[in-house]
Amino acid sequence: LYLNTENTNSLPNSILKSNVDRDKIKTGIAHIGLSNFHRAHQAYYMHELIEQHQELNFGICGIDLLESDRKIYNILKDQDGLYTLITKKANGTIDYKIISSIIEYFYGPENPLAAIERLARPDIKIISLTIAEDGYHLNETTGEFNLTHPQVKEDSLSKFNPKTVFGYLTQIFNLRKERGLPGCTILSCDNIQANGDTVKKSFFNYVEKTTPSLLPWLQENTSFPNSMVDRITTVTSAKDIELFKDTYNIYDQWPVVSEPFSKWIIEDNFISGKPDWEKVDIQFVKDIEPFENAKLRILNAGHSILGILGTLNGYKYVHEVANDEDFIFFLEHYIKTEVIPSLQNTEQQNLKAYKKEVIDRFKNPHINDSLSRICKESSSKIPIFVFPTLLKQLSNQESIAHATFVMAAWCKYYDGVDDYGKTFDITDNLSNQLIRTAALSQQNPQLFLENNSLFKDLVHHDRFKERFEYYLSKLRSLSIKEGLVLMNTGKL
Ligand code: NAD
Repeated sequence: LYLNTENTNSLPNSILKSNVDRDKIKTGIAHIGLSNFHRAHQAYYMHELIEQHQELNFGICGIDLLESDRKIYNILKDQDGLYTLITKKANGTIDYKIISSIIEYFYGPENPLAAIERLARPDIKIISLTIAEDGYHLNETTGEFNLTHPQVKEDSLSKFNPKTVFGYLTQIFNLRKERGLPGCTILSCDNIQANGDTVKKSFFNYVEKTTPSLLPWLQENTSFPNSMVDRITTVTSAKDIELFKDTYNIYDQWPVVSEPFSKWIIEDNFISGKPDWEKVDIQFVKDIEPFENAKLRILNAGHSILGILGTLNGYKYVHEVANDEDFIFFLEHYIKTEVIPSLQNTEQQNLKAYKKEVIDRFKNPHINDSLSRICKESSSKIPIFVFPTLLKQLSNQESIAHATFVMAAWCKYYDGVDDYGKTFDITDNLSNQLIRTAALSQQNPQLFLENNSLFKDLVHHDRFKERFEYYLSKLRSLSIKEGLVLMNTGKL
């Protein structure tokens, strides 16, 4: 049986506990980018709020904008928006839950005007986004909005057939303004620094260039809260699909797989109201920055570090690296001696406990999170996750040993070969350039750091440059594991 409303009758209550008549749920949120993460995080929270607290005004309308999203769009249509959230605990227990908060779906490439019309309607109070780093069209090196990006340029010329989020948003708000309708909140749920501020700056930049007359209205009628999102959500495997089918005799074409942990902290800045998210443990704060920095520099940096070091050692999954004492000892020391001391305004958080929790989450052997997912686009991740720690430690005249060792390993990563001589794929917008400078660094290690717009202020710190050269020269003759053992015993 295929998963859809009709066929769910055969499922046990524990998986499909529903106290609510789905027809009574009204749409209040439009979400662009029906990513795995969105389905495991925001759509899950909304499901809980609907089911446990009968919140009927904030069902989700999903919109996808990419050609590559056709599959998920068709599946959600087939399945009446239903899908299974598979939660894998560290002890091996697996929980299944059918999530039913996505009640409408639109597919931009097929009918952009239908999606625009839908989002222009005033019942949509929040437009949320998970569009990955890519969807923000930030310049890969400066981090600023890239008005010369080919898709952005195309959208600014042909306004009624947009491809980018900014093209869509402009049309949506144009209609709202013309029709005298209210604005709404735009809520980014991506792992980018100051995600609300970033999307606001990029969007306003785009509007200034393409439709300047809309800008004053937008300034009055939209808000952009920053948010911190946290739940490890992996790529769904064929095995996950099979196991659910074999256990319950229902075929879900695309369930999502996640860990039990979940967190969402948001700045309370919603211009048209919001669901009572507090009831499902979503936290609201005035200033997200300390929480965001702790998460980016401990969890996301930790992930990237295990990704890069582990790949060099031939590992394939996060839990393999996290259960290797040499790797985890190094990461714990990095967090303890370089990250935590350099974080500011952390009174409201117990960072020692957070470090332990993050490391335990990495060790969960049932999540099967691939290092290739973690290492994808690391040139847009490392500058956000690791550079701020390095710069703060440099300005405080404190230790930079672990962070700099990671930078040297990151250079070696672009050789594309692990310590056993096996090649691995590198998926990165800057891969051509970084593979070339990593090769040049064999002669002169400083050449890897030559890109001023990527490495920015780091290139002005001689202490960092000397240390980088030292570690890179060591790693040219040592394996990553040998290097870590020496680091962990204070011999490097
Ligand atoms: P995914 O591949 O399932 O989803 C990527 C989504 O981004 C797709 O819906 C796609 O349509 C959208 N997208 C990509 N490029 C776009 C573009 N140019 N324009 C519009 N939409 C675009 O990946 P995922 O693992 O679900 O992660 C999605 C995002 O969620 C990440 O980029 C990250 O910022 C955030 N996130 C993920 C996790 C996680 O553990 N997976 C945790 C926290 C935050």
